[in-house]
Amino acid sequence: MADSKKTALVTGASRGIGAAIAQRLAADGFHVVGTATSAAVAAQISDALGDSGSGAVLVLQDADSVQSLLQHVSEQTEAPQVLINNAGITRDNLLLRMSEEEWTEVVDTNLHGLFRVTKAVLRGMLKARWGRIVNVGSVVARMGNPGQSNYVASKAAIEGFTRSLAMEVASRNITVNTIAPGFIGTDMTAELTEEQQALMLERIPLGRMGDPEDVAAAVAYLVSDEAGYVTAQTLHVNGGMYAA
Ligand code: NAP
Repeated sequence: MADSKKTALVTGASRGIGAAIAQRLAADGFHVVGTATSAAVAAQISDALGDSGSGAVLVLQDADSVQSLLQHVSEQTEAPQVLINNAGITRDNLLLRMSEEEWTEVVDTNLHGLFRVTKAVLRGMLKARWGRIVNVGSVVARMGNPGQSNYVASKAAIEGFTRSLAMEVASRNITVNTIAPGFIGTDMTAELTEEQQALMLERIPLGRMGDPEDVAAAVAYLVSDEAGYVTAQTLHVNGGMYAA
């Protein structure tokens, strides 16, 4: 639980893992700003968060959108001291069939977008001399996954980014970690065929898909005061499907 109402910015908070993280951090006493790609869905996030926060628009590929978001946050509340870089997309294809567009869209959203938001938010954390950044990676960054070379490349890069940034900002009491979810029940995994889902389940020793709340609980720990000595790490939340 936070000492006081710190602002937590959660990207991609409209559904799935991001929505669960937003609800969990609100319950833990943070003022949450959660993002969606459209104003209509951002308004739904505001409704869901009630007095605990609000929704805002963010389109990660668009640098202007990042600036508008930060402007919106500064007009509403304190600068974020917690940043959860959760938003991410897939555009799966085997490499030989993958278009330049499918590659670029994923890397620009998942990796370049994360860079843009983190850089914009970091100044406030440096000033406050306290911060928590959690980047949402994926188990496939370590395992690999056929048909996801673009996505896996972006998620593996996020782990390296995390380690380097953690070293840059540790002296200011800012921790930077990656959460690597396994197979979690959200819209993203609902896109998989039944056969693909069954194959995934076979590989999970705990015998079930993860819930978004399982990931949110791990995020809640990493942003807590108690996790102040944990930085530059990847925390795997995958039911045992991959032992890092
Ligand atoms: P999801 O249900 O597909 O939700 C994606 C979220 O990202 C939505 O809030 C969406 O907003 C937002 N988003 C999409 N494109 C965006 C863009 N261009 N700019 C800004 N925001 C954008 O995904 P999820 O399954 O909850 O996954 C959340 C994170 O966990 C992702 O980084 C994903 O790679 C990672 N992950 C998921 C799993 C899994 O099994 N589900 C496993 C490992 C890692 P809109 O609603 O406005 O589209």
